[in-house]
Amino acid sequence: MPARAVAVTGYKNSGKTRVVETLTQELTKRGYKVGTIKHTADNITLDTPGKDTQRHRAAGSKATAILQENTTAIFLDRHLTLQQAAEHLGPLDFLVIEGFKTLDTHARILVPRENSELDSLRNGLAIAVVKVPESMYDAETELPVISLDHVSELADIVESKAYPLLPGLNCHGCGYDDCKSMGEALLAGETEINQCIGYGSSFTLKVNDQTVSMNNFTRATMENVILGFLKTLKGGDEARKIQLEFEK
Ligand code: SF4
Repeated sequence: MPARAVAVTGYKNSGKTRVVETLTQELTKRGYKVGTIKHTADNITLDTPGKDTQRHRAAGSKATAILQENTTAIFLDRHLTLQQAAEHLGPLDFLVIEGFKTLDTHARILVPRENSELDSLRNGLAIAVVKVPESMYDAETELPVISLDHVSELADIVESKAYPLLPGLNCHGCGYDDCKSMGEALLAGETEINQCIGYGSSFTLKVNDQTVSMNNFTRATMENVILGFLKTLKGGDEARKIQLEFEK
């Protein structure tokens, strides 16, 4: 099963990073392999000016890696989607995400600084509210409100509620209108992740008899294009095994 994901969502200086740190420590203590991804809208310099990798990139390299005994950093001069970035992190049990307020492909933990922020942070996929010590938040909500000192309660909720990142295709393949509705149904226990066409798919692409490796997003996209075409054909809805083969 792919990593289960949860995003820690809040406005600037709300304490999101502390929540990510504390939750990551607790899940790691429980024996899980945890990865993290942070989103920033700020145009900050990620490489160190004057260092070798930055000089390689300034010379025109579009993709640069620096390798050492136990750590690797890769700089790509292009945008990756959240799903593509997650694929690069390798096999994990949990993915803890900081930011990405506009995405509806995963469960989220809300970190409001004050009561008025709660509604704008919610998207129907919230599983808990975390109150950091300096937060003024004290409103009533049906969501569990957890103090950062009680991170084990938060980790229990993440263990029981978080689900793998949905592909974000909004393709209706699961029977729901979009990935957000599918996520709401997953949180309500009304469906299972394998109803998403991005999971458990048997779609394979072979070139010269060699299977081409594809991430879930690409596999789901290609499968969905072909299924969409079949739906337009008489009897296409009854297709069970589909083979597409041609020579170039
Ligand atoms: S099948 Fe998957 S990608 Fe398509 S809408 Fe449902 S959850 Fe989203």
